Amino acid sequence: MKLHPDGHEKTVIDPFGTSYVADYERLYREFGIEPFQPLLPSLPNPSLYMRRGIVFGHRDFKVILEAMTRNEKFAVLSGIKPTGEFHLGTLMTAKEIIYFQKQGAQAFYCIADIEAYEDNKIPFEKSEKIAINNVADLLALGFDPDRGYIYRQSKENRVKDLAIIFGRAVTLATMKAIYGERSIGLYLAALIQAGDILLPQLEDFGGPKPTVIPVGIDQDPHIRLTRDLAQVFHNKFGFIPPSSTYHKLMKGLDGSPKMSKRLMNYFTLDDSPETITQRISNAFTGGRPTIKEQRELGGVPEICPVYEICLFHFVEDDEDIKRIYCECKTGKLLCGEHKKQTIDLVLKFVEEHKRRKNKLLDKAREIILNKP
Ligand code: SF4
Repeated sequence: MKLHPDGHEKTVIDPFGTSYVADYERLYREFGIEPFQPLLPSLPNPSLYMRRGIVFGHRDFKVILEAMTRNEKFAVLSGIKPTGEFHLGTLMTAKEIIYFQKQGAQAFYCIADIEAYEDNKIPFEKSEKIAINNVADLLALGFDPDRGYIYRQSKENRVKDLAIIFGRAVTLATMKAIYGERSIGLYLAALIQAGDILLPQLEDFGGPKPTVIPVGIDQDPHIRLTRDLAQVFHNKFGFIPPSSTYHKLMKGLDGSPKMSKRLMNYFTLDDSPETITQRISNAFTGGRPTIKEQRELGGVPEICPVYEICLFHFVEDDEDIKRIYCECKTGKLLCGEHKKQTIDLVLKFVEEHKRRKNKLLDKAREIILNKP
């Protein structure tokens, strides 16, 4: 079992801080999260993340599965804080929303600018510019704005109204039990997130319907709070408790459990080819100290961020990723060679993505500034 950076064997799930999962199995036992894997055979078209076990858990996803297989109405919503350019973590959330949209969901992309203000101290004028850039990424990845709703928390009164209503049913003791001792602003941001999660079920969007929230496991406290609120306010709004899927969190390129600006252990989709090349070239790996040892013993892809980059994002074909895993384990693939292959894949993707994105910046600006 890996250790928490503080040296403890413990699982920390904190949407406002550093999360660390020492043992995913424990989440099933201790938090009541259900394993996703048994649902796979029933899914008509599982995503790459589902097939590869990156989406490892869920709450109540069977409701979504039923809606998908019966061609009934359902929605997907997730949010991204506008704190910076898209990186491989936010890219994952965006791809999950787009996946469900392509499976027929009414899709919602929330720009969590109130949370960015409360948690990261980002002024709204700044987060507006960041949001335009992020939305251009989202569109370039394939989000269809004609069949979806993109909004900023700070401009969406229905979300803020729900937060005010929910505030009546939540005590300070409950918030402390879920989130620990935090500022009132963060408690408010959590209630606003509950408003986001239930927004697709308001009459303005067609009324109550199964809604899936694909998120990193660190966001589970918001899901638990909102599922309780959905029940409390069921009689008033007819809310169906939201379902969720949980993906694993990506490591930093230095092998640490989290991508961090301070450590510069990740890259963004806006970085130059030189920066991306340099970051991957310098990445920690699961390789051995010498080529001879690696040939004899094989590498350890399980702890390797370069393997993770390929697994999560840049090797589409499942057979190819299996081959990379086997070649690493058997010492056939060496780290220098694999890093070079990965850099080529990433640069090719980023170049094409930037080309598509540049054409969509005006559209993103229009959506954010709400111009016709
Ligand atoms: S060969 Fe690739 S996957 Fe294996 S340890 Fe080296 S960089 Fe990681």
